[in-house]
Amino acid sequence: MITVVCHCRIAQLSVPTLPTEVTECNCSICRRLGARWAYYSPTEVKLPEPSATRPYVWGDRMLSFHRCRSCGVVTHWQSLDGTRDRMAINARLIDELDWSKLRIRQFDGAATWAYLDDEV
Ligand SMILES: [Zn+2]
Repeated sequence: MITVVCHCRIAQLSVPTLPTEVTECNCSICRRLGARWAYYSPTEVKLPEPSATRPYVWGDRMLSFHRCRSCGVVTHWQSLDGTRDRMAINARLIDELDWSKLRIRQFDGAATWAYLDDEV
């Protein structure tokens, strides 16, 4: 298991495998967070204790973005309606990740809701 951990280590998640690609999104929340998202099925991710994070929900209330209650580092987002088989962890929180080997994709969440590098 791969550990995903905030700076103060209160909020810890784990995922079964290292990501091979991550996504940067330019929507209003993601560009402020500076997160690089790696997607998993919620069934694959071991979440932190609920008291370890604080959720942030906005707009159409589809997603909740979680941050550590102590150090404030953003750890993951989850779907609120339970219909999506997808959630994201902030790959920047994986200590052993080799960034030189990862594909970093650009997602246009601000406008077209498509990957900007799809042709590549
Ligand atoms: Zn923390």
